[in-house]
Amino acid sequence: MKPFVVQRGSARRRQSEKPRPRSGVRVWREFELIDLIRRTAAGRGRGDCLGIGDDASAHLPEAGFLELVTADALVEGVHWDFAWCDAYTLGRKTAAVNLSDIAAMGGMPRRAHLVLALPPIAPLVQVTDFVRGLVAELKIHGARLVGGDTNVSPGPMLVSLTLQGVVPKSEMLCRRGARPGDRLMVTGDLGSAGAGLWALQHSRRPQRLRTYPVRRWRRPIPRLAEGRFLARSGRVHALMDLSDGLAGDLRRLCAASGVGARVQAGQLPLAPSTRRSAAARKRLPWLLALQGGEDYELLFAASPADVPVLANGLRRLGTPCTCVGEVLPAARGLSLVLPSGEIVPLPPGWEHNQTEGA
Ligand SMILES: [Mg+2]
Repeated sequence: MKPFVVQRGSARRRQSEKPRPRSGVRVWREFELIDLIRRTAAGRGRGDCLGIGDDASAHLPEAGFLELVTADALVEGVHWDFAWCDAYTLGRKTAAVNLSDIAAMGGMPRRAHLVLALPPIAPLVQVTDFVRGLVAELKIHGARLVGGDTNVSPGPMLVSLTLQGVVPKSEMLCRRGARPGDRLMVTGDLGSAGAGLWALQHSRRPQRLRTYPVRRWRRPIPRLAEGRFLARSGRVHALMDLSDGLAGDLRRLCAASGVGARVQAGQLPLAPSTRRSAAARKRLPWLLALQGGEDYELLFAASPADVPVLANGLRRLGTPCTCVGEVLPAARGLSLVLPSGEIVPLPPGWEHNQTEGA
């Protein structure tokens, strides 16, 4: 791979500080990088008036819809390592984690703005592949890249995506709204992405790992169709996506709704490979489901009478869902029923800066 130099065209940078192009090193200035992104993200969508290349993008508002805006940043060495995933996959994942937040509101994604801070020297193919992956994932779900900013990072690479979407005014779902007596439901399985990350971190050849948990970590699937179905149904009281583990995210849903909850450890949906990963690490499998981050599944609360209809609808979309517990009055707090029947306080979720075993 040919390295290249990304250099912001600022006069403030002293000559002596400028990365010096060596033989075979191409100097890229900001406008050239923006042009590369513009060519990759070419095309306009519904409501787009101005895209990449002006001081701001412009679009028409959609009558009858609420506008949703979400942002997520990923930092090299914190959220990913290029030993764990290639740049194209990272681009897709960057889009997917933002798309998941739109899904968590029952919305439809529309357009994105990308902020890219690159180290002074980075392989060109990495940047091109990253943008290709990001644009491809957005396109799959009907969204486009319409603007952003590029800059030099004195440290690791940083990517931040701001994604805008819409939801019909009467259909938006949020974290508040869960009621005592509701069932707590999750889509898919839990803990596999966390197991995949652990495998990548502990493998001598992480790029070669192709297991289900690793796939789940590298390529999260935003549950947009599922989010829309739940929002349209009118039967869901609260909805969110799971990025920091069920234990941590359920706390947020309960705090927003002013309720407590009880989770059944024995009912948590676990893939066979997640159970094997837990055994290899000598950890309890249901703890991986509670604390493994980056699942990007949906958690929702609904009346017991509505659960069969919702579960059948999700199954028709090809997505299983599982009842993992119930909503209680706030005074009952947050608890976990162990497979033995013992009731304990709900453990904490995944936290940034957490170390293995914490
Ligand atoms: Mg979220």
